[in-house]
Amino acid sequence: MSIKNYKQALKSPVFEIVQASAHELGVDSYVIGGFVRDYLLKRGMPKDIDIVAVGSGIALAKRVASKLKGNPHVSVFKNFGTAMIKHGDLELEFVGARKESYDRSSRKPVVEDGTLEDDQKRRDFTINALALSLQEKNFGNLLDPFDGLGDLERKLIRTPLDPDITYSDDPLRMMRAIRFATQLRFTIQIRSLQSITANKERINIVSKERIVDELHKILASQKPSIGFSLLHKTGLLSNILPELTALEGIEEIEGQRHKDNFWHTLEVVDNISGKTDDIWLRWAALLHDIGKAPTKKFHKKIGWTFHGHEFVGSKMVYKLFKRLRMPLNDKMRFVQKMVLMSSRPIVLSEDYVTDSAVRRLVYDAGDYVDDLMTLCEADITTKNPKKQRKYKNNFKKVRQKIIEVEERDHIRNFQPPISGEEIMRTFDLRPSKEIGVIKDAIKEAILEGEIPNEYDAAKEYMLKKGIELGLSIAAG
Ligand code: ATP
Ligand code: MG
Repeated sequence: MSIKNYKQALKSPVFEIVQASAHELGVDSYVIGGFVRDYLLKRGMPKDIDIVAVGSGIALAKRVASKLKGNPHVSVFKNFGTAMIKHGDLELEFVGARKESYDRSSRKPVVEDGTLEDDQKRRDFTINALALSLQEKNFGNLLDPFDGLGDLERKLIRTPLDPDITYSDDPLRMMRAIRFATQLRFTIQIRSLQSITANKERINIVSKERIVDELHKILASQKPSIGFSLLHKTGLLSNILPELTALEGIEEIEGQRHKDNFWHTLEVVDNISGKTDDIWLRWAALLHDIGKAPTKKFHKKIGWTFHGHEFVGSKMVYKLFKRLRMPLNDKMRFVQKMVLMSSRPIVLSEDYVTDSAVRRLVYDAGDYVDDLMTLCEADITTKNPKKQRKYKNNFKKVRQKIIEVEERDHIRNFQPPISGEEIMRTFDLRPSKEIGVIKDAIKEAILEGEIPNEYDAAKEYMLKKGIELGLSIAAG
């Protein structure tokens, strides 16, 4: 077999410095993993560079840093035997070549020094085990014991060892297989897919943070449904996100059917991914219907209903984030809000769109009104072209109305034109219930379009409302 050389991948002066440093230390070194894979896939010049030394990775990192301009700091992770250097926009990660064996109860391997080939065997996939030599005599030669290059051409995810060993040793690799399949649009080898299915319960020994990392990457890709259907097919999804798998299936009673909300959801996620890179809006699309499983009912007269699913769904978002140890912060509240409001524009667009309904939508959604519209547009998955056109057109009208109402009434981030203090002064009131009642009445009148969102009109309205409540205007 001819030896392939990819010197041109190693043009950055950094590689020469690594070569010289390794030479001085008398160790061999290689670039390995994602850098080589992404270079060969022409995914641009990767900024993350993994280097393996047949010897101490930490010592090599220190030597390299001493030769780099500005002597960058070396972050040493002694427990892992790795070291990291940030150099300009590059991130260099060093590790010593090793052999690994695993204890079944954790992802922590027992590690011994090893050869380059030992190190390649412990990698997750053949396409991630490709290495380029940094030795002077064969600089840029490809070392590919498992035909990773062939797999790149075949677009195949395959493990270097028996997949049952690879996945059972570190079950995170199951998520990584599906993530790479989604990002790269590769196929997972059938043997591998069967092995993932057989090992699916072992996902439970992986930390939630790592699982969520992979979910984020799947969700951030161009067509997330690829990943979610693989997660579903292998049975991993019901371990990770049972709320979603609970949406699967179509029930029929007395000839009435509802749609399959699981596959519908995946379509919505793909739709929204064509419109936004905002990962949290994509999460909102993924979770927008989760309240439908617990709220589903059949009524003889009206058929299937999911009453209150938006509210129930928004509560479920909190529990789900908590379970997955995702941050319980603004991002979570944003997802909750999107789920809670996910049907509002639909109701609006069904018949004539009134100004007051739009004002209420803008008031309730605030700065998120555009995101909400994006979600609702993505939610249109009907296969009936006539309906598809009609719904899209209605949403266009809603968007137009939002702009008009915004220009006129400034409802977004609504600030009441009359303060509580002014109401108190006007009627000589102490803090009391009436103040809230009047403030609310003013807000309602503005949203209903009875009065414009302006001080004078609001003041007049306040006086009228106060008198109706039997209050008297303070003297002076
Ligand atoms: P990306 O950076 O896009 O996530 P990557 O392949 O570079 O892709 P990293 O997590 O940066 O992934 O890991 C670098 C390399 O380390 C991989 O290419 C692979 O060789 C190896 N690797 C990472 N995680 C594992 C794992 N869980 N099991 C085996 N090898 C792994
Ligand atoms: Mg990487």
